[in-house]
Amino acid sequence: YALNREAGFRRCVEEALAGRRCEQLLEKDDDCRQIIASPVEQDGQIAGAVLVILDVTEKEQRERLRREFTANVSHELKTPLTSILGTAEILDEGGGLGQWETVDLYEEARAVLEQLAPAAQRKQVTTRLQGGEALVRGVPQIVEEIVYNLCDNAIAYNRANGSVTVTVENTAFGPRITVADTGIGIPREAQGRVFERFYRVDKSHSSGGTGLGLSIVKHGAAYLGAQVELHSEPGHGSTFTLTFPKAGA
Ligand code: ADP
Repeated sequence: YALNREAGFRRCVEEALAGRRCEQLLEKDDDCRQIIASPVEQDGQIAGAVLVILDVTEKEQRERLRREFTANVSHELKTPLTSILGTAEILDEGGGLGQWETVDLYEEARAVLEQLAPAAQRKQVTTRLQGGEALVRGVPQIVEEIVYNLCDNAIAYNRANGSVTVTVENTAFGPRITVADTGIGIPREAQGRVFERFYRVDKSHSSGGTGLGLSIVKHGAAYLGAQVELHSEPGHGSTFTLTFPKAGA
């Protein structure tokens, strides 16, 4: 009776009575029904019709969830894929990881902080650059990638009105860049793992991170012969130190 007035339902009945099998999906409110109508023949005449009405509400809901899930997964995959594609393109174009050159860490840090200024402003985080020129031998692209990822994280995992201090100096151990933040910090048990690919401390943190940044830092530093150190206190902040080999070493 509930379906009697539905145009789709009536069409099914009419089709079946005219001798043709007919199927329809009828959606009403949150319910979904499948109608299958078949003619019944007797002595070459249409004697009536058989209607089967199936409640397919649950099946349709599952189908919708599956579609939404697929859409979400492909969206989530796009973010890491974009950065992988970018790096892959650089490798093809440059024929390897790029030329070794003399790079000024201070100049790199200045350029990176300028690039990240809008992100810092959005997070209400102040950035500071101190120290001065420190020359290292390296592939500029890789040095930039490392400094960028460290500063990007220092802003992203900060708090409102927090700060990021980047210090560039020549130490007895070699040229050094330090990125210190006043952010959420990293729990002791996670400190050894943050450099792993795809590892993220707070998986629910939907900041759009990929879990790849620090693994790029680690591999980039190893390629350039630089040492990475991490000191962090949960609730107070983190400090990443990158020390390059001394000139001529
Ligand atoms: P992501 O794309 O998630 O930032 P990373 O490899 O750069 O990936 O970092 C891995 C994880 O380490 C982050 O998800 C975050 O939990 C933690 N992390 C990295 N940098 C910091 C930082 N400066 N302060 C607090 N946590 C950090």
